Amino acid sequence: TLDTSMSMQSLHSKEEIEEGEGVRVYIRVRPATEREVSVASPKAVTVEGSSVLLKSDPPRSFTFDGVLGESATQQEVFETVGRSVGSSCLAGYNGSVYVYGQTGAGKTHTMCGPVGSVQSMQFDERRGIICRMLDYVFSEIARRGKEENGTEHSCRCSFLEIYKEQITDLLEPQNTNLQVREDLQRGVYVERLSELACGNLTEAFQALWRGLQQRQVGSTHMNEQSSRSHAVFTLYVEAARSRAGVTSTRAASLNLVDLAGSERQQHAGDPRAQTYESLRVKEAAAVNKSLMALTNVIMSLSREERSKRRRRGSNYVHYRDSKLTFLLRDSLGGNSKTVVVANVSPAQICCAETVSTLKFAARAKHIRCSVVRNEAFSGTVESLMEEVKLLRKELVQLSGRS
Ligand code: ADP
Ligand code: MG
Repeated sequence: TLDTSMSMQSLHSKEEIEEGEGVRVYIRVRPATEREVSVASPKAVTVEGSSVLLKSDPPRSFTFDGVLGESATQQEVFETVGRSVGSSCLAGYNGSVYVYGQTGAGKTHTMCGPVGSVQSMQFDERRGIICRMLDYVFSEIARRGKEENGTEHSCRCSFLEIYKEQITDLLEPQNTNLQVREDLQRGVYVERLSELACGNLTEAFQALWRGLQQRQVGSTHMNEQSSRSHAVFTLYVEAARSRAGVTSTRAASLNLVDLAGSERQQHAGDPRAQTYESLRVKEAAAVNKSLMALTNVIMSLSREERSKRRRRGSNYVHYRDSKLTFLLRDSLGGNSKTVVVANVSPAQICCAETVSTLKFAARAKHIRCSVVRNEAFSGTVESLMEEVKLLRKELVQLSGRS
């Protein structure tokens, strides 16, 4: 028998690909910290529905897909931001969730929450998107395994950190200085990055926990490194289903990205950074290269989108300028359902950074992605022809209905 496989992507309707899907953008405003309360910094941010009003000079208003206010719980954040991406991933669509914002704005709280132990990842009410996502994906796999007899799921995960343009494997920390590569078969990937098979939720939590420990151990300047580095946790989900001699495999990856602090590096951790704009030009060299490239990519994509000239590709959009944008290219205008959560402080003393975060978020709203289901079929030529016939029949029935 001849074993062959073909990519499903070419079979997708043109309409679906061309329509594109917007990057969803949410703002999360955290409660004032003790410090902000103690210096009696007035509130600069008001939430009105899905708009943020900022008491800057001049006052500004921005509208997004949604705003999660100070009282939003971690559960609500996951329901709004994470669940649909997780569910699409199980259906074979790539997904990405980014948290963006200045240091101290609540990125790590939103993405991870307190992760002191595997126990807290499982039960703590304050746990963040990654833990809830893993929980959701594994419980869905268990549920679907029972319902859809014959579908086999498998999961793997990887966890890396980008610090000063160096990629380190957080699951195998002796693997440093990893390179991003691209080839026709695999697309973009990180060479030598370990991928850990996760048979169940506990194994996934253990991997995450180990990686997070490593992220803290790795540096003598702990705070500096964790605020200046990007952490990318990726979950790969595969679902294989056999019918009439044909195996269909849906495979998707889900990137959960805790970005470096977006403030001027000199002010890392200092919420009084008022001079951001004036320092911007002078100290451009000190800017985190990956974050700068991310901003540039988003600027080019949003400009393109607005001028309705959609010409993607490295000629126009400089994905290869940094490790981060090269690695996550698909989530920026490619094949991925992407969500950005921009975190801000409510305090007046952070107003300058908040303006810059909201501007970034407003740009990201313009990006459209071309999302397709990653599905491949394999089997004998005869059985594949049979499957095509079946699918045609289903299609005729569907179009007869509408
Ligand atoms: P970042 O990762 O952006 O530097 P963190 O997530 O570490 O910021 O948040 C800074 C501090 O504020 C932490 O002590 C965190 O627990 C707290 N915090 C952030 N967001 C919230 C929130 N929504 N509710 C309660 N505390 C929060
Ligand atoms: Mg952080």
